[in-house]
This record gives sequence, C-alpha cells and structure tokens, in this order.
Amino acid sequence: MAATILDGNKIAAEIKAEVAQQVRDLTAAGLRPGLAVILAGNNPASEIYVRGKVKSCEELGIHSEKHAPPESVTTAELLHLVRELNRRDEIDGILVQLPLPAQVDSKAVLMAVEPAKDVDGFHPVNVGFLSTQRPGLVPCTPAGIIEILQRSQVAIAGREAVVVGRSDIVGKPTAMLLINHNATVTVCHSKTHDLPGVCRRADILVAAIGRTGMITRNFVKPGAAVIDVGMNKISDRAEFERFFKGNEKREQAFAKNGSTLIGDVHPEVAEVAGALTPVPGGVGPLTIAMLMSNTVKAARLRRGSRLREAALSLERA
Ligand code: NDP
Repeated sequence: MAATILDGNKIAAEIKAEVAQQVRDLTAAGLRPGLAVILAGNNPASEIYVRGKVKSCEELGIHSEKHAPPESVTTAELLHLVRELNRRDEIDGILVQLPLPAQVDSKAVLMAVEPAKDVDGFHPVNVGFLSTQRPGLVPCTPAGIIEILQRSQVAIAGREAVVVGRSDIVGKPTAMLLINHNATVTVCHSKTHDLPGVCRRADILVAAIGRTGMITRNFVKPGAAVIDVGMNKISDRAEFERFFKGNEKREQAFAKNGSTLIGDVHPEVAEVAGALTPVPGGVGPLTIAMLMSNTVKAARLRRGSRLREAALSLERA
C-alpha cells in the first residue's frame, strides 16, 4: 500500500494560525513580538530565505526588521549590531542568517546572541536546556519534525527512531527531541556500519543527510514513518530521469525551471513506508512556522511576567 503523504504545508498553516492568535493576544497586552533578521552580504539563497521569514512575520502580525550590512562587514561590526539588538526590549528574536561572509567569525557572532533571543536555538545555553529538558528555544527544523509526527498521529513514545545525520542544526537536536518524547533513538552518520540494516529497525526514520535520494526502499521497514529533511537540487537531465521518469508533474516542473528539488529519500520509498514527508512541501514549510512560534515563545519566556502584570491590571480595570 502506498504511504500516506504528510502535508507539511497544511500543518505549517495550522501552526501559523495558532501563532497569529497568540500574537494578537500578546499585542493586545502591549507586548507585540518582534524579530530582527541579520542578512550580511548578498547570498541569493539567503535573500530568498530571509524574504520568506519577513513575509511570514507580516502575515502573522509579528514586528520584523531586516538588518543588511554589506559583504565587507567585519566581525566587530556584526558583534556591535547583535549587542544593540540584545539590548532592545521590543526585539524578542534575533536570527543571524547563515552563511556569513568568509571573513566573519560566525561562531563568535552566534555566541553573542542573547540566549533568550536565540530563536534558532543554536546557542550552547539552549542546546543545554534541550538536553536537560528545561524550557528554552529549540531549533526550528527539529521542532517542526516533532510537530509533523504529533499532528499526524504518529506515536513516538516507546518506538524505535533512527536519525541519519548528526549535525548540530538538524540531526543532533532531532535525536534529543525524540529522546525527550520517549523514543528509543539511534543516531547514524557517515561512519555507521550497515546503515540499511540499522535504518530498517526504525518505526520512525529521519533522513538529514544532504545526499540525493540516498534512502532507498531497502533502508525502510514496511509501514515506517519516514521524515525527509534533505533539500537537494537536481538540474542534470539523466539524474532527473533516474528518480522521476514517468512522473508527469515533475516532468513539467523540470521542463519549466530546469531543475527540481529532491530529498534524501528515494521516491520508491513511498511504496514501502506507512507515512512519508514530500520534498518540497514536507519539513521545509515547518521550519518557518516554527521560527514564528519560537519568536512568540521567546517573547513569552522573556517578557511573560510583564504579561501576567498586564493581565492583572486589565482584570482590575
Ligand atoms: P550536514 O552536512 O551538516 O550533515 C550531514 C550529516 O549526514 C552528517 O552527520 C554526515 O555524517 C551525514 N552523512 C553524510 N553522508 C552520509 C552517508 N553516506 N551515510 C550516512 N550519513 C551520512 O547537513 P545538515 O544537517 O545541515 O542538513 C542535512 C540536509 O537537510 C541537507 O540536505 C539540508 O539542505 C537539509 N536541510 C533542510 C532544512 C529544511 O528546512 N527542510 C533545514 C536544514 C537542513 P558525518 O557527521 O559523519 O560527516
């Protein structure tokens, strides 16, 4: 039986609608959430991502501002900007779009972001909060993966989860969240022996590798839920045909754009898996939705006590 396709666009829209309501409530209490995005230099892909983030803020009523220093920006200048944003009370989230220009010390800039405003959840303080199950800001893509599973009624507790990829941005925090949700978790990487065999143990298989269609059907236990985080671009005709020959919709898109997006999971997995996230339209849309959600969470965590005061004074009035 073909896998149920988990619609990331639909789930992201649900989350955004919930976040928009929270933004309205906070704004009514005088605490409109605010996100500052730093886009240094002129990386075309980053410009597209940042545009998407700013647009989502506008849709949801979150204050947003873009800071776009030139390609020649120095580490000292960026540190100054981050510290300035750390100080401003109406800014709840600070997002440093990566990659930064080559001359910049990216780690130093990311470390300078106040952990309470670190809506990407990359700061070691937030990594520590996640691993010790304390309230904090969780990286967006991993948080989105958990939302997809929960909102699609895929049980996590007690089940075998295998995460392929151990990056600080996706693999590790996803594994940590799955542990926190009581899965039994195995993390794989490029040195793992018998990767297909390990993956076949998974009730939940997360592929965060960055290798076009690498997870084929022999990696997947029949009925497993497969989450495809990979975003790989194919522009070579022969490679396209290897994956999508006979897929009319893809053929049309490829003819029009000269390229198509594919995940780390081979399309044939849809014949074995119980549930599968598509690429595009799976995990990707969740990443922005969770950024919006994190901005509101950051506002609540940092300014929450003032929210309670505002609510009390409204009650008294
Ligand atoms: P990284 O390159 O940082 O990490 C890739 C991981 O995959 C590494 O741990 C690496 O192992 C492992 N790996 C590479 N090759 C193999 C192999 N042959 N067998 C087993 N493991 C392997 O990538 P990211 O985690 O940043 O991203 C992963 C993918 O997810 C990319 O395609 C990226 O574009 C996509 N992505 C999508 C997002 C979304 O919103 N949908 C957001 C972020 C990323 P090792 O550690 O041993 O080198």
